[in-house]
Amino acid sequence: MNGQENEGTGTLRYRLVRSGRRTLGLEIREGELIVRAPYRATRQEIDRMLREKRSWIDSHLAKSRQKIREAAAIRPLNREELYALGQKAVEYIPGRVRYYAGLLGVQPRKITIRNQRTRWGSCSSQGNLNFNVLLMLTPPEAIDSVVVHELCHLKEMNHSERFYREVLSVFPDYYRWHDWLKEHQTELMARLG
Ligand SMILES: [Zn+2]
Repeated sequence: MNGQENEGTGTLRYRLVRSGRRTLGLEIREGELIVRAPYRATRQEIDRMLREKRSWIDSHLAKSRQKIREAAAIRPLNREELYALGQKAVEYIPGRVRYYAGLLGVQPRKITIRNQRTRWGSCSSQGNLNFNVLLMLTPPEAIDSVVVHELCHLKEMNHSERFYREVLSVFPDYYRWHDWLKEHQTELMARLG
């Protein structure tokens, strides 16, 4: 279902998704505004919320669209560049893994470097760690934040409070670099073409 709301200053386009939820909600994804509404929500209720949240919507939409433009403007890495980046990752990341594994008292099994468009790292239930080659385009602290995150999964296979306590115990700046990666994810992942 698609909806459109007309307002004094201009037209706000959005996608309307009705469901069994009980409250109205807004989401901005890939430059698009999504309104989530209960089945019984009236058009007036939706319009009122959109008016109330208009400045939030405008600023977040602008940010999201800017990100898309930036991603489109970035040239993808060619094969040689990607290969060189992989070499760098193979030389650098295992050392960081060993360092933090020592601090945490854990023993990872295999370390694999991957070209991935969706995630920075992962940890399998067998204790194998995967890291995104694109981490080599980020600051060392951002790399450490992913290394520590995945290593801590060897202790806690979840994202519980206990998990984050482990993370922060060896990398107190974790949230700052986690946010940095989130903020730059779109433009960086776009370099895989
Ligand atoms: Zn995790």
